[in-house]
Amino acid sequence: MNIKYRQTIIAGNWKMNTLASGAKSYANALCPLIPGFYAWCNVVICAPFTSIHAVVHAFKGNKVSAGAQNMSEHKSGAYTGEVSGEQLRDIGAEYVIIGHSERRQLYGETDESVNSKILAALEVPLHPILCVGESLEERESGVTTNIVSAQIKNALASVPDSEISRVVVAYEPIWAIGTGKTASPEDAQDTCREIRAVLANLYDAELAQRISILYGGSMNEKNAAELLAQPDIDGGLVGGASLNPTAFAEIINAAKGGL
Ligand code: PEP
Repeated sequence: MNIKYRQTIIAGNWKMNTLASGAKSYANALCPLIPGFYAWCNVVICAPFTSIHAVVHAFKGNKVSAGAQNMSEHKSGAYTGEVSGEQLRDIGAEYVIIGHSERRQLYGETDESVNSKILAALEVPLHPILCVGESLEERESGVTTNIVSAQIKNALASVPDSEISRVVVAYEPIWAIGTGKTASPEDAQDTCREIRAVLANLYDAELAQRISILYGGSMNEKNAAELLAQPDIDGGLVGGASLNPTAFAEIINAAKGGL
C-alpha cells in the first residue's frame, strides 16, 4: 500500500450471512480489538440489505462504515425486489460492492450493467467497490491482464476524471474466492500494478495513484500482512474471514504494517 497517496480500506463482505440482530454483538467484539484503526485505514462492513441499518447503528461513533453488496442501476420505479442507491444512502450506507463475481456468475451481471450501477452509485453519492478478476482457466491461459483490463475499461465508461478517485477497485481472482486458495503476494501485486496502469491510461498517472486497489480472495489473518505489504495493494475485500470479528480485527491490524 502507499499511504502517502491513497486510503487504505479493509472491507468485509458478509455475503448472505448474518442477521440484523447480531450486528451489535459483532461490533462489541470487533471494536475493542482495533483501537485507533482510523489512523491507518477505513473499515467497511458490506452487509446484507436487511442488516445495513443495524450495522450503522451498532457502529455509531466508532468510525466503521457500512456498505451494501449490490444496488439497482435505476433511481426508483417499478423494479420489484430491487434496492436503489438513494435508499441505501438513506439508511446510512456509504459504500456498495458492484460487479462481484458471484453476481456476474449467478445473476447474469455484465460489464454493461456493472457500468450502469457504478454511474448510479456515484450519482447518489456512494463509493462503489468495483470487483474485477479472472477465472482459473483465464489465468492458466495467460489472459488475466486482458480480462481484467477489459472489465475495468467497460465498468468505468463515462466515469469522469472528477469522480474516479471515489471509485475503489477490488481485484478478486474468481478461483481464490471462498476456496481457501490465495493469489501469491507477487501475482496479486502484478495484477494490481497492471490495473493501476490501465487506470493511468484511462485517466492520468496522478489520478491513478490516488485510487485504492484492494485484493480479495481468501484473505485471512495469516496471509493479510504479506498481501497488504505490496506497493499496489491498498487494502482487502474480505469474505469468509470478515464473519469472525477476531480474524477481521487481525486483518485490520495487519494493514497498519505500512505506517
Ligand atoms: C469475497 O466474497 O469478496 C471474498 C473475497 O470472499 P473470501 O474472502 O471468502 O474468499
